[in-house]
Amino acid sequence: MSFFNSIGRSMTRSAPRGPKRSPTPTSATFPPVDPHPPNPVSPAPVSRPLYLASPFVEATLVKGQFKTIVMLPKYVDIMEWVAVNMFDFYTNINEFYGVIAECCTQQTCPTMSAGPSLNYTWINNDRKSVNLPAPTYIDYVMTWVQNLLDDENTFPTKSGRDFPQSFPSTIKHVYRQLLRVIAHIYHAHYPQILHLRSEPHFNSLFAHFLAFGREYELLEVKDLKGSASAPVGIGALWERWKEMGILEG
Ligand SMILES: [Zn+2]
Repeated sequence: MSFFNSIGRSMTRSAPRGPKRSPTPTSATFPPVDPHPPNPVSPAPVSRPLYLASPFVEATLVKGQFKTIVMLPKYVDIMEWVAVNMFDFYTNINEFYGVIAECCTQQTCPTMSAGPSLNYTWINNDRKSVNLPAPTYIDYVMTWVQNLLDDENTFPTKSGRDFPQSFPSTIKHVYRQLLRVIAHIYHAHYPQILHLRSEPHFNSLFAHFLAFGREYELLEVKDLKGSASAPVGIGALWERWKEMGILEG
């Protein structure tokens, strides 16, 4: 069943999810969601990132196909399944970022970079595309997602309440922004992930996230790869995992 075609046909929710996490602290007001694709800047010579090198590229906790763990279980409502999974992705990404956050500062990461030739820009309140320091950008994303998760109109937790018509497109926005956070961590903070010996966990999280995005039509390939002339590092990682049979095409 297609996630995007199933709204309105979903059953009502039966059980509330687990306790919600506290939001990433922020004092910033939250601008609207960035509706624009990544903004490739001038191409630069690309050196091979460490996460594409052996043994790190193969370091995953789950062996075999990730597709099996993202498929909709029998008798589970698709809206509920997507909601619970997005909640888990957010929680895990927040956890990883929390660990490396002290290394992600305005000085180390003055832009939301995800590769030598790619910066993600933010759409501000004046609808202008602006560069933000990565910690600010990520703070906006995580606060926005946390507020959505806490919003009973977006993520209903009470029995008898339906998901809103806008739920699939909201989820697609959330997915895109969480992808950018992962991309930044791979690009700018992989040494810290390695230092913590967390690369198998982080690879598993990302492979699961990609497989989920493919299954529920959330993943835009252009978000992953930037433009064809300036592919992003994690786009190469995705290609590599497809070659290795960890992910499907
Ligand atoms: Zn950073």
